[in-house]
Amino acid sequence: MDFKWSEELESMRKMAYDFAVKNVKPTMEEDEKEHKYRPELVKKMGDQGMFGCIAPEQYGGLGLEERNLAATLMATEFARVSPSWGLPFNVQMNGPQNVLLKFGNEEQKEKYLPGLIAGTSGGCFAITEPNSGSDVASMRTTATETGDGYVLNGTKTWISGVPFVGTGIVYAMTDKAAKHKGMSAFVVDFSTPGITQRPITTKLGLHCSPTGEIFFEEAKIPKSALVGKPGQGFQICMTMLNFTRLSSAARAVGVAQSCIEEACKYANEREQFGQPLGQFQMIQEQIGRMSVEHEASKLLVLRCAWQKDQGLNNTLETSMAKYYAAESANFCASEAVKIFGSYGFSSEYPVERFLRDAKSYQIVEGTSNIQKMIIAQFALGYRKS
Ligand SMILES: Cc1cc2nc3c(=O)[nH]c(=O)nc-3n(C[C@H](O)[C@H](O)[C@H](O)COP(=O)(O)OP(=O)(O)OC[C@H]3O[C@@H](n4cnc5c(N)ncnc54)[C@H](O)[C@@H]3O)c2cc1C
Repeated sequence: MDFKWSEELESMRKMAYDFAVKNVKPTMEEDEKEHKYRPELVKKMGDQGMFGCIAPEQYGGLGLEERNLAATLMATEFARVSPSWGLPFNVQMNGPQNVLLKFGNEEQKEKYLPGLIAGTSGGCFAITEPNSGSDVASMRTTATETGDGYVLNGTKTWISGVPFVGTGIVYAMTDKAAKHKGMSAFVVDFSTPGITQRPITTKLGLHCSPTGEIFFEEAKIPKSALVGKPGQGFQICMTMLNFTRLSSAARAVGVAQSCIEEACKYANEREQFGQPLGQFQMIQEQIGRMSVEHEASKLLVLRCAWQKDQGLNNTLETSMAKYYAAESANFCASEAVKIFGSYGFSSEYPVERFLRDAKSYQIVEGTSNIQKMIIAQFALGYRKS
């Protein structure tokens, strides 16, 4: 038995799954092989209101109360079908929209939120650099203040949405000596001269989701691009990650669910030694453990979304949900591949794709080690929020 959702949540959950089955699944295997991204689908998702979960109606959002639960259920359902197509929930919605809604001024909200929500402007959030990953405050991209604005110089890498970004949140140092207190956040129009995007074509998985590098070469942005105050970027970034982590965890839950469904179907069909695989005690042990790992991560993720909808500060619970969902998705995908035997090693069945795609959840939005570090810091009493 599952939770009984409100009519509104249940219809959104179902709409997301049906949409993914109808619009993503038919060409998915071919698109995966060709590493094909379809921007027109983002627009279609926008038309259905999928990126409007967290914003008020005045900017084109849905004005929902249970906004994080809605976003979570939808991302989970998409990732059940295609982890690649769960990504737009973060780049169009959870990342940039949370930053603008919580820290942006009215002009920024009015200018950028409608395009992100409608899916007409590709979104992103750019933190990571070639020499700065987990250690966010060591970033080298600079935003140098001039009379009428800032000049951006530097390189971002592994940015989801690139090279299709129209609008994004870019983090850069305005005062390098001040370390994390010298970081600022900007909402950037990517048609600005001096900004170029280049795709990364060497990925292990998520082949239908674009990821790439951004180069800033003397890119002049106006003063009005600054989000919040100068030096507030680190705080903005950590607040944003608290939401994008939830979405990554939600997608991991979707992957685990599909791996269990696929493994059970196969274990009932495939026979060895004169009986279906599912009759073997060791296969039952695997499926039993996969089921509990999945259920436990789902509960952590839903609690996390519910807490956010209550307006609670839940950094600890977000890290727990993100860590556990990432690890259990990888566990379930790996066990599913084992249950499929050699067919699990083949792209003829979806479980090898789920295994490759699930690795991303242990890396993005703060690695599993970083989540464990945060959880331990709370347990040890080193941090309170
Ligand atoms: C598919 C994909 C999409 C992505 N999308 C985005 C995006 O949209 N925007 C963006 O900004 N970034 C994005 N990233 C980048 C991602 O956020 C970083 O890769 C991640 O933060 C880790 O940084 P890193 O790869 O530099 O690893 P590093 O920080 O170099 O870490 C390497 C290893 O060391 C471990 N480690 C590091 N520090 C510690 C520590 N203090 N204690 C213990 N272990 C530690 C890590 O856990 C990891 O195992 C994406 C990455 C991928 C793979």
